[in-house]
Amino acid sequence: MLITRPDYYEDFECIADKCEDTCCAGWQIVIDKETLKKYIKIKGDFKKEIFKKVNWFQGTFKQDKSKRCAFLNDKNLCDLYLNQGEDGFCKTCREYPRHTEEFEGIREITLSVSCPEVARILMNRMEPVQFISEEQEGEEEFEDFDPFLYSILEDARKEMITILQNRNLTISDRILLVLGMSHDMQGRMNRQEMFACSDVIAKYTTQRALQFVKDYQMKVKNKGEMAFAHIMFKHLFELELLREEWGILLKETEDLLYQDEEAYDKNKEEFQNYLANAETSSNISIHLEQLLVYFLFTYFPGAVYDGEIYAKVQLAVYCVWMIWEIWMARWIKNEKSLDLEEMTELVYRFSREVEHSDLNLRKVEEILSKKWFLT
Ligand code: SF4
Repeated sequence: MLITRPDYYEDFECIADKCEDTCCAGWQIVIDKETLKKYIKIKGDFKKEIFKKVNWFQGTFKQDKSKRCAFLNDKNLCDLYLNQGEDGFCKTCREYPRHTEEFEGIREITLSVSCPEVARILMNRMEPVQFISEEQEGEEEFEDFDPFLYSILEDARKEMITILQNRNLTISDRILLVLGMSHDMQGRMNRQEMFACSDVIAKYTTQRALQFVKDYQMKVKNKGEMAFAHIMFKHLFELELLREEWGILLKETEDLLYQDEEAYDKNKEEFQNYLANAETSSNISIHLEQLLVYFLFTYFPGAVYDGEIYAKVQLAVYCVWMIWEIWMARWIKNEKSLDLEEMTELVYRFSREVEHSDLNLRKVEEILSKKWFLT
């Protein structure tokens, strides 16, 4: 079995009671069947607690009115852990914020940026992220798994990550190159010409492709940017709302950004200049690169199951674009200031809402499979 992880994987350590937004509140934690069986067998004084605080019908931990897990004590520590040690954790609590994508003989493990500590690691990271693979014991076969398609996707992702981490290019050049590559691959896929994909991948590493995306940007420059951004932003209102405060933030962002086209363009330009010069934000293109690589690495190979190559890349671009819009709105609200701490906060809050609901992820992908960024 091949296990792949980002190189900052070992840097993560849960900060527990020091966490500003614990993962033990705000969402429903589902307990796996094995752990439920284990809980039934718990003996002694703690047995009563377990029976009281688990919703046996739903297989979840009960929550108080503010959606805090019933085992989360006043000091923001987990009573289950304090009483039972790590054995007391269910699968979700044991694994979070680790996120695993499964393929035949392969596990790709990332750390979810919905955790404030992970978001902090990524937003403070300046070097390009590397992915490290190691063989571990264990073999398996998946039904309906296409190893040929997976290997093409893997080659494409490798090249896309190289492009996204090419700091000699502007961030918009990099984004357009990976969008272009996946767009053309999708065309080959639809025509059942997957053998031709290696030519597509090679094409997007050339000077000609770079010139093409530069010309494209000149052609579409300032053409209805606000209207398109607003349409795309509005899709966030269609998603399942996990926390009420998120709904308020979305509304506030919409009101601050999308009232007047001229003001939008001016704000955008000023915000770009602000971020390029703000000491605390370091280099904005590096933050965007890290986020793009994170979303692309996590979701792109999933196209092996549904063939939605282009939608997966659009998903990565869309998430980072929307985070950017939310940053811009917060900067306006703060009277034109924004520090790295707030940027990080908005990253993990976005991720919690969009990534941590299967329903939401599916919905965004569905929207993006019908709406193409490149025209
Ligand atoms: S969100 Fe992350 S740092 Fe915070 S309690 Fe959960 S795992 Fe720990």
